[in-house]
Amino acid sequence: MRRIGLFGGTFDPVHYGHLRSALELREALDLHEVRFIPCHHPPHRDTPAASANQRLDMLKLALSDAEFCVIDERELASERPSYTVETLIALRQEFPQVPFYWFMGMDAFSGFNTWHRWTEILELTHLVVTPRPGGGQILPSELEALIKDRQASIGQATEKVISQAGSIFIQAVTQLDISATHIRGLVASNRSLRYLLPEPVRQYIEEENLYL
Ligand code: ATP
Repeated sequence: MRRIGLFGGTFDPVHYGHLRSALELREALDLHEVRFIPCHHPPHRDTPAASANQRLDMLKLALSDAEFCVIDERELASERPSYTVETLIALRQEFPQVPFYWFMGMDAFSGFNTWHRWTEILELTHLVVTPRPGGGQILPSELEALIKDRQASIGQATEKVISQAGSIFIQAVTQLDISATHIRGLVASNRSLRYLLPEPVRQYIEEENLYL
């Protein structure tokens, strides 16, 4: 049975924290593909520093040899805020039977109950939540209760008969304490980005004078 991982984010820029998580979650959940979905106007945060096209270029450079990764440009093509629920409704029409696994770090999950139509999101996809370095996020009681109600084991995720949506999987990945915020800060203070992200992405940032 085909299974698709969905990785939404700003990717401003994409870095090894994203890439290593995608690879490990693909292996742990036996996914057929991981679909990176860069957002255009994230509803929850400041406008990205790099343009939509630059963020897309960087993703293409980072994923050029990752045959299991696909870049889904639908949110970038929209001028409106990117609402995950609407993206999922569109994806569900394209892939009616396929189990979806929406990846998010624990930092992102801790605000999940503020997302637009968040309860509907769980009717459209499973969630895969990864602890982040530093961890220790206190979850709102609503989300604690949600986990209690919906948490399933990875073994259940890879069983032959699997539902398309509705469960929460908490899966550890190698903890790489890298964030796009940190990377942008390094550029601004004229420090090296080497070994935090793929070299072609580092060169692109330099050539385009990004994040200065
Ligand atoms: P920023 O620092 O600008 O907030 P970010 O590095 O957290 O950016 P995003 O594009 O906002 O990256 O993140 C997209 C998703 O990737 C989120 O669910 C986030 O939790 C996850 N993520 C980001 N960095 C890591 C990392 N180092 N390890 C695991 N997951 C990560």
